[in-house]
Amino acid sequence: MTDTTDTIAKHYEQIMQALGEDTAREGLAKTPERAAKAMAFLTRGYRQDLASVVNDATFESDMDEMVVVQDIELYSLCEHHLLPFIGKCHIAYIPQGRVLGLSKLARIVDMYARRLQIQENLTRQIAEAIESVTGAQGVGVVIEAQHMCMMMRGVEKQNSRMKTSVMLGSFRKSQATRTEFLQLINH
Ligand code: ZN
Repeated sequence: MTDTTDTIAKHYEQIMQALGEDTAREGLAKTPERAAKAMAFLTRGYRQDLASVVNDATFESDMDEMVVVQDIELYSLCEHHLLPFIGKCHIAYIPQGRVLGLSKLARIVDMYARRLQIQENLTRQIAEAIESVTGAQGVGVVIEAQHMCMMMRGVEKQNSRMKTSVMLGSFRKSQATRTEFLQLINH
């Protein structure tokens, strides 16, 4: 274990004891360590940055039509409750000279999602990252997600989904561009 996961594991053990658990019982003996490793994985985006994730995988292209990638799976943790929110991210951009490898879009989503987040900020960070990496004339990002803090606690709203969108550049300026994007992803 790294120093960080070791520290997190010790805190998890205290949390479980505060809950009234016997952390010495067989089923829980390795739980603090496992939970710490899981949390490190779920927040690995803190140890990534945009430049290394993109890794120069942008390509020259004279394509100037909309590129849409739909249904990118998204797993994040809400920064208010440390509970998961899970959903899908839809991305569109209109290139002006450079396009981005398809898998890189998913990796950008993952890098920002694997941090403590609120959905609104996550949506904006993804959009701004794609704009800065590609120099696109416009970017649109829509996220729809279900939040465990809504579903498992408090109001227990099982079927509510939160939708957020951020439109930059030509997606912001042109209603027709926005409409084309939203129709392509069936919204
Ligand atoms: Zn929450």
